[in-house]
Amino acid sequence: AAKREGRSIIKIFEPVMLYSRQLRSQMAAELRGAISSDELILHYQPVVELATNRILGVEVLVRWQHPLRGLIPPDTFIPLAEEIGVIHDLDRWVMSNSLRQLAEWRKDFALDDDFQLRVNLSAVELKQLDLVDHVRSLLRALHLPAHSLVIEITETAIVTRGEVEMYSLLSLQQLGVGIEIDDFGTGYSSISYLRELPVSMVKVDRSLLVELNTRTGQLEFVAAILQLIRAAGLEAVFEGIETREQADQLRALGCASGQGYYFSRPLPADDASALLATTRYLRAGEGIDGSEIAP
Ligand code: C2E
Ligand code: MG
Ligand code: MG
Ligand code: MG
Repeated sequence: AAKREGRSIIKIFEPVMLYSRQLRSQMAAELRGAISSDELILHYQPVVELATNRILGVEVLVRWQHPLRGLIPPDTFIPLAEEIGVIHDLDRWVMSNSLRQLAEWRKDFALDDDFQLRVNLSAVELKQLDLVDHVRSLLRALHLPAHSLVIEITETAIVTRGEVEMYSLLSLQQLGVGIEIDDFGTGYSSISYLRELPVSMVKVDRSLLVELNTRTGQLEFVAAILQLIRAAGLEAVFEGIETREQADQLRALGCASGQGYYFSRPLPADDASALLATTRYLRAGEGIDGSEIAP
């Protein structure tokens, strides 16, 4: 019985925690090599304007195409990469490769001028004194306007407010790069930081949407969070929109933008290219099963 229980628990815990010490050290060694041997791949998930389904941009999400273990999701190896100090190289690899992709898209397709690439950065990146120079020179080399890049940083990372972190955020903002707090609502922090940090957008964690239609008062709760973000002078984005009902409700609350399986799953580069080549608007519902098409 213990075995059976153990098995059902496996689905709940982060897989990385369950790896045996031996497997972990093996994966750590493999992860170090994964970047140089081109095993990391990038997927792109559209972010849309809820009122029109216009594609506002894409979020870059890294995956590890392991030669034996298959496609490994980031929640499994990002914590490991942070632990073994590979995250710096990994994040920079993602940043430069996705910006190169963006430059290509801008050259090949008629992207809207406000099209944004959103890149996730680990907390430790903000501590790197050369981050801002690195971003500036990448943008310059690729002839990309600074406003075409948004950096996503988790709430827990951003509220540390070390001197270097603040310097990085302020300089990036001065450069014109968008800064977004990711997974808002999952860390425990003083709400006043929303008004004090140099950020322009807040992405509300998908856990807040999960019970939107089932839990009493959840819609009001989400509405209040939206108001809070607005009152702080920031733009709200919702992640994890999975149903038409959720999209409709958020739109009715006046939320401008969001992303989620309802609109589109994260797409491999080829699929993202094919999408951007043919349309500026998404047919919502296709992300789920194709049967639920919004008007
Ligand atoms: P995140 O930045 O909050 O990204 C959103 C996650 O939610 C992605 O998971 C995405 O695939 C998933 N998602 C999107 N729409 C839906 C939906 O409708 N329902 C559900 N259930 N999930 C949805 P993913 O790709 O597994 O990434 C997980 C996390 O890994 C990211 O969370 C981010 O924190 C981290 N990550 C991904 N790429 C990078 C990277 O290049 N660098 C760093 N430092 N972290 C990364
Ligand atoms: Mg993100
Ligand atoms: Mg998030
Ligand atoms: Mg997340």
